Amino acid sequence: GCIMAGSGAAGAEALRAPGAGGLALLGLTPSAPSCPHGPTLLFVKTSQGKEEGRRFYACSACRDRKDCNFFQWEDEKVSETRLAAREEYNRTHQPSCTHRQNVERYKNFVLLPLAKRRFCQECQQLLLPEEWGKHSNHQLLCEISTAQLQSPSQLLYPLENKKTNAQYLFADRSCQFLVDVIIDLGFRRVLSVGTPRLHEMIQSKASKEDDFRVRSLLLDIDFRYSQFYTEDEFCHYNMFNHYFFAGEAAHETCRKFLCQDNGERVIMVTDPPFGGLVEALASSFKRLMAMWKDTEKEDAISQEMPMFWIFPYFFESRILEFFPSFTMMDYQVDYDNHALYKHGKTGRRQSPVRIFTNLTPRMIVLPVEEGYRFCAICQRYVSSGNQHCEICNSCTSKDGRRWKHCFLCKKCVKPSWFHCDNCNCCALPTHACEKAAAGCFVCGQAGHKRSTCPSLSRS
Ligand code: SAH
Ligand code: ZN
Ligand code: ZN
Ligand code: ZN
Ligand code: ZN
Repeated sequence: GCIMAGSGAAGAEALRAPGAGGLALLGLTPSAPSCPHGPTLLFVKTSQGKEEGRRFYACSACRDRKDCNFFQWEDEKVSETRLAAREEYNRTHQPSCTHRQNVERYKNFVLLPLAKRRFCQECQQLLLPEEWGKHSNHQLLCEISTAQLQSPSQLLYPLENKKTNAQYLFADRSCQFLVDVIIDLGFRRVLSVGTPRLHEMIQSKASKEDDFRVRSLLLDIDFRYSQFYTEDEFCHYNMFNHYFFAGEAAHETCRKFLCQDNGERVIMVTDPPFGGLVEALASSFKRLMAMWKDTEKEDAISQEMPMFWIFPYFFESRILEFFPSFTMMDYQVDYDNHALYKHGKTGRRQSPVRIFTNLTPRMIVLPVEEGYRFCAICQRYVSSGNQHCEICNSCTSKDGRRWKHCFLCKKCVKPSWFHCDNCNCCALPTHACEKAAAGCFVCGQAGHKRSTCPSLSRS
């Protein structure tokens, strides 16, 4: 069997375990071959934390082989015939309609009377009357209103089952919170990377409220959105390899958007698929930041483009590795279609998803109605349950529950953990100590899953 069987390359992050066998990302190389999703990434199989075996290229975007089965050994000789076939394959595996064509279709669609506005749920497509015939035995939605056109994320079904997209849409409350914070901080432009719902909330407010001055540009791999937005509002983009599917023109649209008004008052907000490779994401985000930095700013006050990276708290140390200037906010980001991530005061149905930012933490005011309070010592808003620890001299809870200080570990740990003399660290009382074989994907230890791996929550 092939190494890629079961979990594809982008799922490798979970398997990138020092000590356990897995895959390591070596990155984007200039000579990388391309799949339909742009340049592929170089990976290597690892064992006991060491590279082992031949390096290979695999799709950057797809974690499921069913979505893209590109595979090539790094040192493999690829024949001219195979190269030609691959090029042909990449060409034919692009959307059947261009973005421009979709924009033209949209223009015609909005001219139709309500009675003639139909959307095919099977093909996920707005239909023009001459196309009805082809979709006659498909499930259709009729009388598509302007409001529906302004909320494509409600009209389109979320691609949550496809591992590749992992589309988890913000609950209205969290989306509204993000918009409020963006306005309060005085931003005028938002680069929405994989945040279609944030994008549509901004666009829809801009069209309804005269004094709403914020604009958004959506970058997303979900091409369905090209039916609803012009080339100035949406770019078909792969955030794992910084690839603009429409080429130079789209790249330029993005660059212009970032550099307008000397690059002032722009913020990037991103909510990538969680299974994604952190270092591939970080490298793309750095390139987006670099596009912004290219502006001739008169007063180069800030060195980094402001950013909100929305991601689970247990990735904190990974994100800080690549962006040391970032801080994790306590705000719990809620989702509509993710049962586990619903907001709640009790139980463990609390969202593990947080906002990481390079903005000064105290500037980001978290809603007091939801229990957040300001810690004057930490100079940031924290969860109601997050107690300031005198010994650590910080509000140490990562998950919103009250954590307790362990004098042996010299840090605060989860309330459910106890110090284990055998392992010489804190762990769940039910943990299987060091000896047990099969364990956590991250550190290889038994007794906990990846989501509670102590090596990830250590900062
Ligand atoms: N909470 C956000 C959606 C986040 S889900 C909101 O409500 O707006 C992750 C998003 O990233 C989806 O929109 C998905 O289409 C997009 N995405 C997934 N893989 C991607 C990739 N490789 N490049 C760019 N966008 C991607
Ligand atoms: Zn691919
Ligand atoms: Zn504090
Ligand atoms: Zn402590
Ligand atoms: Zn301990």
